[in-house]
Amino acid sequence: MRAVTEFGINRYFVDLTTQTVRFERVACTDFEDVLGGVARATKVLDDVFVDDPYDPSAPLVMNLGLLSGSRVMTGLRTYFHGYSPLKTSLSGAAGLMWSAGSGHFGTKLRGLGMDDVVFTGRCARPTLLRLSPSEDPTGASGPALFEFLDGSDLVGMRVNAKIQELHSRYSGAHFAVIGPAGEHYESVRYASIALSTDNQLKTGDAKPRFCGRGGYGSVMGSKNLLAVAADGPNPAVRTRGLKEINREINLGDGSKGYREDGAGGTWRLLALLHPVGGLPEYNFAPPGTDDGQALTRDTVEQGPYVVTAEGCYLCGIKCHKNVYDRTEDGDTGLFRAKVDYEPLALLSANLGIYDDDEALQLIELTDGLGMDSISLGVSLGYAMEWNRRHPEASIAGGLAYGDSAATVATIVRIAAGDLTEIGQGVLRLAAQTGEPDYAMHSKGVEYPAYLPHTNPAYPWALAGGHMSMRTYLLALIERETDVDHWVDATTNRGPRFMLDDITGLCKFSMLDPSVEAEAIRIATGLDLSTEDLMAVVDRTFVRGYANERRRGFELDDYSVPAEAHKPIKHSTVPQFNTEEFFDEFRERVMETLDQRATAAGLL
Ligand code: SF4
Repeated sequence: MRAVTEFGINRYFVDLTTQTVRFERVACTDFEDVLGGVARATKVLDDVFVDDPYDPSAPLVMNLGLLSGSRVMTGLRTYFHGYSPLKTSLSGAAGLMWSAGSGHFGTKLRGLGMDDVVFTGRCARPTLLRLSPSEDPTGASGPALFEFLDGSDLVGMRVNAKIQELHSRYSGAHFAVIGPAGEHYESVRYASIALSTDNQLKTGDAKPRFCGRGGYGSVMGSKNLLAVAADGPNPAVRTRGLKEINREINLGDGSKGYREDGAGGTWRLLALLHPVGGLPEYNFAPPGTDDGQALTRDTVEQGPYVVTAEGCYLCGIKCHKNVYDRTEDGDTGLFRAKVDYEPLALLSANLGIYDDDEALQLIELTDGLGMDSISLGVSLGYAMEWNRRHPEASIAGGLAYGDSAATVATIVRIAAGDLTEIGQGVLRLAAQTGEPDYAMHSKGVEYPAYLPHTNPAYPWALAGGHMSMRTYLLALIERETDVDHWVDATTNRGPRFMLDDITGLCKFSMLDPSVEAEAIRIATGLDLSTEDLMAVVDRTFVRGYANERRRGFELDDYSVPAEAHKPIKHSTVPQFNTEEFFDEFRERVMETLDQRATAAGLL
């Protein structure tokens, strides 16, 4: 076993303005340094405060977790970190967050010997950054060569077209790209970064994975960096001893919900949540109708479609539920879209759209333009609700629930930078209209497809409510409604969902932490116990929270919209998030976390 101090990481500082690169071999001093992901990035960014996430001086960190690029199944994560153009305090301070994606790009970064890349500055022209092995990997410039190439011919291309074009140039590479929305970052705060997959390059179909939350595609766009090509070998890594671990990931209970031999992927949640009134419909106000049934996987599969389970590099979970038109002889025809619960719910039911064909079109369009379907779906839902309440003062051309043709046109306009009022996200849109009570976000980060009425912990999720705080289904599963239970869930259990945003594994592995610690020991030799691992998660959560507080996020920033405190009319999920409940709960959560941050010397 190796101690922390026997590890080092390769960090690059890239000034995009001058197109200069500084390499640093960093000696690790703690588990955060070794494990990486958000644990290491939060340390790097903790003392870097920026007023404007689009300012060229604002850093964008691209990094890996220790298991990214390993042969531990699902060890494929790439992370982007920085101050988010969405996450904002009431006083106007930008908040730190991150976004994670699978695919094959991270494995290529690992093969190039890269751990962290800190981008600052702004390219003078649209730029394609090509990374390849350097001629002197142990030299002062590090193992990777950086080439800043003219990317002007990539401007305006949709995500898949851009990736396929780059694939034709660099057949052995994988890619991180933004779409047109990221190029219009001044008008679109929730652009995503797409990471290529082998399946995508092989078939030509639009099957990337997305780093969607937080608007890091917009930040990348603000740096005039359109694409990164990681053009190197796959890493030579240890496989011995991982058979049982990979068997557990592939066939164990943790990943069952995402496998075909289990519950069948995130899409299953629609059939679970709709009957209990937990599906976001009409801007998070389920009407109690049967309409949502049309969007369940069972129903869609009866239509003229074929759904196949496909996956990322060497991943047996195969969580991608790819929908194709069904040919007359029953085969797969044209690829339509990859369906996950979040994009489906927020781009269809939440907009009053219940037609499967229209829903597939909206998902495919949003992915292709490079936008986070969650932030987009919530922002559109708010605009439709405003228009319903204020037909005399409508916005976005009077966009209405259920009008998918107008929604398509609106999405195209947003990505083109022609509809800033929607593209700026729901916090700013509601500030403009003056009606924040039904703007479904906390701290400017739009909610995923779980009703805030049932999840008072949303405001403490550091990086999106279903990515960094595992409380979004608790009310349904545990049905507990007392304050003690929710304080514990929010300050102790929930944030531990960040584990895989540190290690490099995909969240859908759902690996028990003791097995994950064992995987790290076997794959890397790091001397680390389960307790050590979880202590890193706990410290990282407190560090992220303390960062918010030092930036000026105050008690009132930790809130949910007023209408989330009102009962949902047609729901059997426990109704408990009243204003009285929330006031007591919030005070106790803040007291607990402030004490922890102070004890850690972070406040
Ligand atoms: S679980 Fe899904 S997203 Fe995660 S690595 Fe496997 S196929 Fe990719």
